[in-house]
Amino acid sequence: MKTIYLDNSATTKTDEEVVKAMLPYLSQSYGNPSSIYKLGRENRKAIEETRNQVAKALNCETNEIYFTAGGSESDNTAIRGIAHSYQSKGNHIITSKIEHPAVLETCKQLEKEGFEVTYLGVDKNGIVDLAELKKVIKPTTTLITIMFANNEIGTIEPIKEIGEIAKKNNIFFHTDAVQAVGSVKIDVKALNIDALSLSAHKFYGPKGIGALYVRKGVRFDKFIQGGHQERNKRAGTENVPGIVGLGKAIEMAYESLENHNQKIAKLRDYYVEQVEKKIPYIRINGDRENRLPGNSNISFRFIEGEGLLLNLDLKGICASSGSACTSGSLDPSHVLLAIRSTT
Ligand SMILES: *Cc1c(COP(=O)(O)O)cnc(C)c1O
Repeated sequence: MKTIYLDNSATTKTDEEVVKAMLPYLSQSYGNPSSIYKLGRENRKAIEETRNQVAKALNCETNEIYFTAGGSESDNTAIRGIAHSYQSKGNHIITSKIEHPAVLETCKQLEKEGFEVTYLGVDKNGIVDLAELKKVIKPTTTLITIMFANNEIGTIEPIKEIGEIAKKNNIFFHTDAVQAVGSVKIDVKALNIDALSLSAHKFYGPKGIGALYVRKGVRFDKFIQGGHQERNKRAGTENVPGIVGLGKAIEMAYESLENHNQKIAKLRDYYVEQVEKKIPYIRINGDRENRLPGNSNISFRFIEGEGLLLNLDLKGICASSGSACTSGSLDPSHVLLAIRSTT
């Protein structure tokens, strides 16, 4: 039976070119990047080349990029790191109700530690309420963390406007751009983004490797204690094969961005059109304009998500009913609950 993979928000297949770029660093070039001999130095060089590729993709400086073990670690590092670093200035954080668990759970943990967190509502398409954002800002607000694009319903948030509001109020702005990087052109300077999380396995790169951009001058506490790697911000011998794969994947994604997006959006639109034509009692979720090209989220009445997915699996079709990080629970998606509560 043929496998039809429709779950690219959960993860993507590692591109063969990416695998090819990684292979030498899994075999003959095995040196520790911190070592001074040639085997080490060539690994150091490979890391710095990827840092260049990532910085170029985001329009930032190379020394504003830190490698991590993925999107979750980048989110944790940015939010905890900035919140703690500026705790003497204030303890209020603003986020949204539809963030990924890596952001929501980090915020909940910070609440236990005495921080105050405001969870902004969204409209029926999943767009955060900018008027509400302006209203909830306090003198103690140090950080706004709002995702670039939602991983369940594909809605792209008004990042430019949020960046402007943050800047005007002297508040740091972090965005979880794990779904957007590789699908959307991002210029962190033009968008006034102070910190951004990305993860290679969402754009045809390997799993377990990500990056965090933090604007120069923004302080953040280190998340992993140990050696001096990543300019003393992220201890541990670097995942060189992963980093090389991340570099190749981000370069390829932005080389073919328009073509790829057009192709994917066309397929997505065809799929939605067919579902609309053939299946009654459905509801298309997310914003029709401001959305990721490869995302479709549809509610089907009279059937449970879990049952639907099991039946699709029997036909070789891979899909999901919510974030991979919450699967296994029968609770309705927190994202769908947030958009429902407005209608
Ligand atoms: C996948 C995802 C993450 C988590 O990234 P990992 O690399 O799997 O840790 C975080 N945020 C969003 C929006 C995601 O889609």
